[in-house]
Amino acid sequence: MLSAEWRTNISGYSAFSIPHSALVVTMGKSLPVFNFSQIAGTLDSLEQQVKRFITAPNDGRTVDDFKPFLVALNLTKRCNLKCAHCYLDATTKAGGGSDELTTTECYRLIDQIAEVNKGCLLVITGGEPLTRPDILDIARHAVAVGFMVVFGTNGMLINDRMAKKLVEIGVMGVGISIDSLDPQKHDKFRGLPGAWEGAVAGIEACKRNGLQFQVHFSAQPMNYKELPDVIEWAHTLGAKVLNVFFMVCTGRGEELTDITPAQYEEVLEYLVNCQDTYKDMLVRARCAPHFKRLAYEKDPDSPITKARGYMGGGCLAGTNYARVTPNGELTPCPYMPLSAGNIREKSFAELWEKSDIFDSFRYPHLKGKCGDCEYSEICGGCRARPYVDHGDWLDEDQWCLYTPKGGEKVRVAFNTAEDFDGVWDEAAQTRLSRIPYFLRAMVKKGVERHAREHGIAVITVELMEELRKKRFGNEAPVFKF
Ligand code: SF4
Ligand code: SF4
Repeated sequence: MLSAEWRTNISGYSAFSIPHSALVVTMGKSLPVFNFSQIAGTLDSLEQQVKRFITAPNDGRTVDDFKPFLVALNLTKRCNLKCAHCYLDATTKAGGGSDELTTTECYRLIDQIAEVNKGCLLVITGGEPLTRPDILDIARHAVAVGFMVVFGTNGMLINDRMAKKLVEIGVMGVGISIDSLDPQKHDKFRGLPGAWEGAVAGIEACKRNGLQFQVHFSAQPMNYKELPDVIEWAHTLGAKVLNVFFMVCTGRGEELTDITPAQYEEVLEYLVNCQDTYKDMLVRARCAPHFKRLAYEKDPDSPITKARGYMGGGCLAGTNYARVTPNGELTPCPYMPLSAGNIREKSFAELWEKSDIFDSFRYPHLKGKCGDCEYSEICGGCRARPYVDHGDWLDEDQWCLYTPKGGEKVRVAFNTAEDFDGVWDEAAQTRLSRIPYFLRAMVKKGVERHAREHGIAVITVELMEELRKKRFGNEAPVFKF
């Protein structure tokens, strides 16, 4: 039997997706994208500030540990909705920004990301990505280059024709946001009557045409009590993944649209406890890193704690995750408008590899209770929350109620090497090498564990296939091996 985390990661491609309209950091307040190169006068002091945050690595990590394996492409500001949490004014949403990356610039960006890591997952989103006229060409280009591509969408523009096209192009799936089972509540939040029906019609079109879908739920004070019902509903619909997003709000007491830390903890505890109920649907908290701390407290061997970083609910901002804004700024995550620079001026590789800002996430010196916390290596807190609160992204995450007890750091099982005396034959090695690198270690570990437990000395393609079928039935593999 394959390890649970393999399932978690393979079926959870969308574990990486971001909610539709996660174009900006905040609920209720806009923050400009902050590009160091545009503020020459204050550059030195800011650079010094960033460098003070960086601790030199001495734990054996190399540049390969910091390859992007999830890049969110916010390719347009245009949108057919008026969501309460979106900072864009109606005019911009209708017309889009005049400075959005052109089709050619998008192609070039995709080619440049491929130079750094072709095995990465691209999440195409917006605004509403399907309002961009050339979006299918861009998706087609990304698939042709070899990327796994998913869409983050409100679902309203997905009919049978669109679903068929997305399947034909090779798009792996779509994430569709549902904020409530009460259509009126959903519509109110999304700012348009009929938005709920449109989203559900989009899901039905996906189902009819064999396009994988997942449901995205953004936890807010108005809907968090509905979560158990939404999970059950998504399961009945046939979703493979349900992601619960915790949006990042601006300053404490400023725009109290965020759920409180106590409500946050309540939702996370529910999510940890419901894992065993939905064996065939991945239910995960996103952008709530202390989900991993709660899961560990319940069961140190749970698949959530074993899964690496964001795949288990942790944060990969700046380490394996980045976002490109509609006009080309590269930031650590969609909720953090802290730019390493613009891809119109420098290549993706240069920005990814040589940014002090990104380095500050890779070799962080966390402050406050996150710095003292024994869970900092599997959790580390959300960096966007302290950033939007007071500008210091390495400060403690105040939406976590935990008081660190000190002592040894809890380390993830992901990095624990296991003994395996057998061999992989050539064909199996080739197949393994085609699995996206960020899943490869998990798959390898799962297959080797099975082989060890069953006294199998040689791992073959047939064994890999047998294990895949055991886990996923006869469905086609999510990745093209
Ligand atoms: S910093 Fe990490 S946890 Fe916080 S919003 Fe960004 S990706 Fe999510
Ligand atoms: S204190 Fe920080 S590192 Fe510790 S569990 Fe809370 S958010 Fe995570």
